[in-house]
Amino acid sequence: MEAHGLPVNEMPEMATVDKVGNTIAVILPFVATVTAIVLFWNRIVTPADLLILLVIYVFTGLGVTVGFHRLLTHRAFQTSKPLRYFFAILGSLSVQGPVITWVADHRKHHAHTDKEGDPTARTSVTGTGSGESWPASGTRTSAGR
Ligand SMILES: [Zn+2]
Repeated sequence: MEAHGLPVNEMPEMATVDKVGNTIAVILPFVATVTAIVLFWNRIVTPADLLILLVIYVFTGLGVTVGFHRLLTHRAFQTSKPLRYFFAILGSLSVQGPVITWVADHRKHHAHTDKEGDPTARTSVTGTGSGESWPASGTRTSAGR
């Protein structure tokens, strides 16, 4: 809380426990996926599984970047209601929280970048901010999300 309102270069370092937690959250799923592919290739994991993984990964990314961010947060373009819902569903596959919360937090982020009120600021109200750019890892910690 003491860092709110301070420029980024004057904010305290992220706690070691947060650094370790974020590192594990980013690396572990990737390592587990590669390990499963190597260990179970052509038995449990097949080329079709990798294709499904790739397609879902790309569509989820489009749901966040095009749907959550450009369409629903910034209203950078307009489209039909069914397509808005489709993008919202795709973005929800990223497990970054409810779309309404994501959009509200991102609008606050742009209104108060790295200052008091920025839900992604380096140090949050609880002092456990992730210190990463929006939404780098999906491990936003402010307000418990
Ligand atoms: Zn934005």
